[in-house]
Amino acid sequence: MATISDLIKSHISSGRLFHAYIITGSDEDGRFEGAKVLAQSCVCERDARPCGVCHACQKAMKGLHPDITVTGRVGDDKEIKIDAMRAVRAQAMVMPNEAEKSVFIIREADYMNAAAQNAMLKVFEEPPSHAVFILTAENPEKLLGTVRSRCELITLPPRDLMIESALADKFWRAALRRDRVLLSSAATELEKEKDRAVLADFIAALKRGAVERIRTGEISEALFTSVTDACSDAEKYMIFNMSAVHLAGLYLNAFLAHV
Ligand SMILES: [Zn+2]
Repeated sequence: MATISDLIKSHISSGRLFHAYIITGSDEDGRFEGAKVLAQSCVCERDARPCGVCHACQKAMKGLHPDITVTGRVGDDKEIKIDAMRAVRAQAMVMPNEAEKSVFIIREADYMNAAAQNAMLKVFEEPPSHAVFILTAENPEKLLGTVRSRCELITLPPRDLMIESALADKFWRAALRRDRVLLSSAATELEKEKDRAVLADFIAALKRGAVERIRTGEISEALFTSVTDACSDAEKYMIFNMSAVHLAGLYLNAFLAHV
């Protein structure tokens, strides 16, 4: 099963970059995760977007890239109002600071009221060449037809179908960012998993990820060996009913030496 990141990457590698996207499916966390990968692709400095290692990717992953703006509902507001979208529109007219594109993520865009949508429609009709808009929406049909028709639609699969590999992906993200806090949070999440089928899928996904990432040069030989060795051990121990806690410890050790 592919991760959200894989799905977004395959979507953009197959075609040109559009000016506006709607990401639907999954849950809001999943949609937002997809939006962030897509935004990272827009600012990445290399050809294999997003590379995950360039300066721009690093900043994007930390949420610090000056050309990626995230906006959406404020607090308990029932809708996204025109003022917020006017601000986005004005900012979109300004040239990006560092990247070739400036990216605007509008979360839960299906909460835009009609006036807000009409304000955005103007910019969707004649978008500045440097601007990319990424809308997340549970119910895209709530958006005006005229807005929808100007956006490329990306539909993610339901979250429960991707959960096991999303966790493997979290381990990889932690490793690539050398983020020990994220790493230990991934291990804690793994510890809580009781379903043995999910654990087996997780091990398989992690192994696939290692093979894929050594191929693209994203990870060192040492990390690759460490993780694939841990996977072989895990597969062996799973037969003897290894607990998720032990599994998490095994992987935490395998990654920690390189993160
Ligand atoms: Zn990059």
